[in-house]
Amino acid sequence: MSTDRYAERRARALEASKEAGLAGLLVTPGSDFVYLTGHEADPYERLTLLILANGREPVLVVPTLERPLAEAAPGNDGVEIVDWRDGEDAHEVAARILRAGRYAITDQTWASHLLELERATADCLFVPAGRALPLLRAVKDEDEVELLRAVAQAADAAFADLAGIPFAGRRELEIAEVVRERLIERGHLTADFAIVASGPNGASPHHGAGERTIEAGDAVVLDFGGTRKGYYSDITRTVFVGEPSEEQRTVYETVLAAQQAAFDAIHPGVAAQDVDRAARAVISEAGYGDRFVHRTGHGIGLDLHEPPYIVEGNETQLEAGMTFSDEPGIYLPGRFGVRIEDQVVVTQGGAERLNEASRELTVVA
Ligand code: ZN
Ligand code: ZN
Ligand code: ZN
Repeated sequence: MSTDRYAERRARALEASKEAGLAGLLVTPGSDFVYLTGHEADPYERLTLLILANGREPVLVVPTLERPLAEAAPGNDGVEIVDWRDGEDAHEVAARILRAGRYAITDQTWASHLLELERATADCLFVPAGRALPLLRAVKDEDEVELLRAVAQAADAAFADLAGIPFAGRRELEIAEVVRERLIERGHLTADFAIVASGPNGASPHHGAGERTIEAGDAVVLDFGGTRKGYYSDITRTVFVGEPSEEQRTVYETVLAAQQAAFDAIHPGVAAQDVDRAARAVISEAGYGDRFVHRTGHGIGLDLHEPPYIVEGNETQLEAGMTFSDEPGIYLPGRFGVRIEDQVVVTQGGAERLNEASRELTVVA
C-alpha cells in the first residue's frame, strides 16, 4: 500500500476523534497501529506509542533500539519519531508530548502502559477507542476487500477439501489438525483456529476440538480461519456424518434460511441490529428462538472480531465497504448444534458474500 494511504488514514482518524470531542488518539502496536502506519511492531513491556493529537504532526514514541525499524517503515513517512533509552521513564517521555484532554486509546493496549500513562499525566483522560471511535477501520477500501475475498476463498477451498475426508471413527482433534493443514495448504500464512464440534459438543458455540470420537449420525460444526497478508478468514459449515435425521435436517434448513434472511436484509443505511433481527425472526418462527444464543455477526478485517457487531441494540447504519460475518446458529444442549457462517461485504446495492463454499446440506463419510 502506498505511503499516502497511511497519512490519509491518520488524517481521517484525527478528524473522527475531533468530531468525537477528543484531544486525540493513542495507538500501541496491534491492528490499529498496523492500519495507521503499516509498521508491524509487536506489543511489549517497552512502550511504543503513536500519538495523533489535534494541532500537531503525528509522533511515534519508540524504544531507541527500535528506532531503525520505525524509520524504515514507509508508512511512517511524515511521522516524527521520538525515542527513549532503556532506564528512562518512557511514559514520562510520552506525557511530555500530550496536552491536557480526553484521548481515545487502543482497546488492546497493555493495562500496564495505560496505568503508567495515567500516572505520568496530570490532566489527561483515556477512553477506549472501541467505544469512542468504533468505526475507525470498519469501512474497507477496495484493496482490503480484495484481501478479505482472497483469504475467504482460501478458506472455501479448505472446506471443499474437508468435505471429501472421512470423519466417522476419528477424534475431533485429528480433524482439527487436518483443518489447519488445509488452511495453510490453500494459501493462509497462519491457521488461527479450528473448531470441530461433533454431536453434543456442537451445542457449545465456542467448543474447540477435543478427544471425542466422531460417530455416524453426528452433526459436526466446523468453524475455522486464519490470516493471509494480515487479514482474517472465518467460515463455518456444519456437516452430517451419514444421512441426517429429520430433525437435523429441519434445524439445518432453518439456520440456512435465517442466514439467507440476514443476508437479504443487508443494505447501506440499514441498522446493524435489523440484520440480527432478520435472522432471529426465521429461527423464532421455527420455534428455536431461545436456542440461538449469540449475535448474528461480527466485523472482520485486521482483527477476527471487530466492529460493526451485528447485534440487537447496535443502531450503527451499514455503509458500503463494511465487512462482517453472517453466522446464525441453533444449539440444542446434549444433542447437537448447527451454524452456517459466511463473510459478507456491504455494496451500494445490498451485499456480496466473500465466501462461496457450498451451503447445501453436506453428508460426509
Ligand atoms: Zn464465534
Ligand atoms: Zn467462525
Ligand atoms: Zn465468526
